[in-house]
Amino acid sequence: MFYRLRTDFRLSIITLLGACAILGVAPFAVFRFMQGEVLAGLADSVIVLCVCVSVLHAWLTGRTERSGLFMAVTTSLSAVVITRIVGEPGLLWLFPCLVTSFFLTGPRVATVVNLAAILALAVQTEIFASGVHLWSFIATSLVVSACAYVFAFRNQSQRERLEHLATIDPLTGVANRRSMDQELDRAVANAERSRTPCAIALLDIDHFKRINDEYGHSAGDEVLVDLVALIEQHTRRTDQLFRYGGEEFVLLLPGTEGAGLETVLANLQFLLRKHLKLRDNAITVSFGVAQFQPGESVDGWLERADAALYEAKASGRDRIIFADLGQGQSGTTASPAAYSLT
Ligand code: GH3
Ligand code: MG
Ligand code: MG
Repeated sequence: MFYRLRTDFRLSIITLLGACAILGVAPFAVFRFMQGEVLAGLADSVIVLCVCVSVLHAWLTGRTERSGLFMAVTTSLSAVVITRIVGEPGLLWLFPCLVTSFFLTGPRVATVVNLAAILALAVQTEIFASGVHLWSFIATSLVVSACAYVFAFRNQSQRERLEHLATIDPLTGVANRRSMDQELDRAVANAERSRTPCAIALLDIDHFKRINDEYGHSAGDEVLVDLVALIEQHTRRTDQLFRYGGEEFVLLLPGTEGAGLETVLANLQFLLRKHLKLRDNAITVSFGVAQFQPGESVDGWLERADAALYEAKASGRDRIIFADLGQGQSGTTASPAAYSLT
């Protein structure tokens, strides 16, 4: 529970605002019923109910966008209804709603929700004691919304940038291991659900240490950048490349199996052999490939690909080894040139 609160920003906001709204509004509902203000009491009760539904929905389904939007709309609408019932003092409830809507949903949607609430109240001129009160309300509510918008917009763009930086490898620009873990979890869930094939290829540059030693670390970096560019140019949009660490990469190939998978990888190996060079010296890559087997874990899948890569290295490098599919044997593409390029 605390882990989810720590890692899911919107869930924590929904929970916090939910607790504040319940603790802050529920006593009002009781008070209004006791005062005989049944309509206002009912409105407060509906607010508490909606907030509870939002919080429960967010926790049970994890779909916090929906819950946040629902909470922003219902709390703003409730503030409008309460003001309609109790008059000008009800406006005080709108101001926290104008700010919190930016925490609950995206800046654009929150702006629309806020403007709708402000407009809905501004047209009911009879609520306001004078024209000055009306214009004061419009001006202050717009100022509060504008400030909250600027804050929320900056916050959102910074968060998106941080999330992006946390998932890419700064040298090659390709997704990093952290993002690979998430994508492989997703791929396994998808393969289990839809029973569609999925494979991973673990790629490791041969004798990369020698490249660094002979030509320098920055030349080695260039090779890594070139390798990524070549793989990205020659794979499908649905394939995903991740930097696993050092000079090792993982290529995730959804929807590919058997002979099709062998052809794709042999073509890739052919292209790398042809184009991956450092000062006219050819650089080769070894591949360990594993097809996902229903029921296995991500770790088990990666281990089989790793064992196949180990075998590719041990048997001479510059080759593709397919992990065993339960028969205790591995398949090798010993003659990649036999595959034609398409
Ligand atoms: P093998 O054929 O068995 O894979 O030999 P190798 O030399 O490629 O194997 P090893 O994994 O021992 O060496 C990898 C080297 O990659 C060691 C490390 O210095 C280098 N390396 C790791 N990350 C980077 C990087 O970001 N840039 C550069 N230039 N080198 C890196
Ligand atoms: Mg290597
Ligand atoms: Mg290595």
